[in-house]
Amino acid sequence: MRILVIGPVGSGKSTQAQILAGELGIPLIMMGSLLREIASKDTKLGRLVGNKMHRGELVDDEIVVETIREKLKTPDRKGFVVDGYPRTKDQLSMFDPGFDRVFFLSLSDNEIKKRLAKRARQDDKPEVIKARLEAYYQSTLPIIEHYRQLGILTEISAGHPIEEVARMIREFLDGNA
Ligand code: AMP
Repeated sequence: MRILVIGPVGSGKSTQAQILAGELGIPLIMMGSLLREIASKDTKLGRLVGNKMHRGELVDDEIVVETIREKLKTPDRKGFVVDGYPRTKDQLSMFDPGFDRVFFLSLSDNEIKKRLAKRARQDDKPEVIKARLEAYYQSTLPIIEHYRQLGILTEISAGHPIEEVARMIREFLDGNA
């Protein structure tokens, strides 16, 4: 099964994607981590990617698409769980991983801000959070709508504890197996 976990910053999407991939025994592909790895290198590409990430902006579509395409060149027979791709409609039209199911972890603006205030990553500074939220509303929400219209979206409220959200995802999958 090819699964995407999507949601705003602070929704716990990476945590849920990790839990799910572990439970299903399939590979986990985290776009943010792949990009962070590129950014850690002292190369022109590394600096370009790192600068965008530090500002909370989206990394260029071409770089992102090339990275995920390479990663999914020989996809696992049983599928995979993706966190963080696609984030723009252009990315989707350049490379479509062909998801069977998309879990949308929804969270209100206030809840997002409350949660982020507790975190202390470098890209969680107020102006960076603002940029990340803007990117989410502008570029990623249309993707979510696209999957909703395709009829493969499952919306789950991320306002619950981690285990509860994980249980809801599992229950949905079990009920639809
Ligand atoms: P994440 O850990 O998934 O929130 O991603 C961290 C950062 O990586 C984002 O704020 C973006 O700068 C970058 N990033 C991750 N995925 C993508 C993507 N699909 N397109 C563009 N930038 C991305």
